[in-house]
Amino acid sequence: MFSLSCRDLGHDCDFVATAETDEQVRKLLYVHAARAHPEVEETLTPSQARELDRQMQAHMKNEG
Ligand SMILES: [Zn+2]
Repeated sequence: MFSLSCRDLGHDCDFVATAETDEQVRKLLYVHAARAHPEVEETLTPSQARELDRQMQAHMKNEG
């Protein structure tokens, strides 16, 4: 299982996404962010989106 917390991406938020694949974890976090942090999602520039993706990969936990 892979997991990633919203807090690791800089939000003051207790949401943690867990899924079978890192790809699914990223999708869950994008869905969560669109609902819970729309102000961030709406103002994301392409370079910020790339940085966010990099952050997600850096903080992704593989719990086997
Ligand atoms: Zn969040």
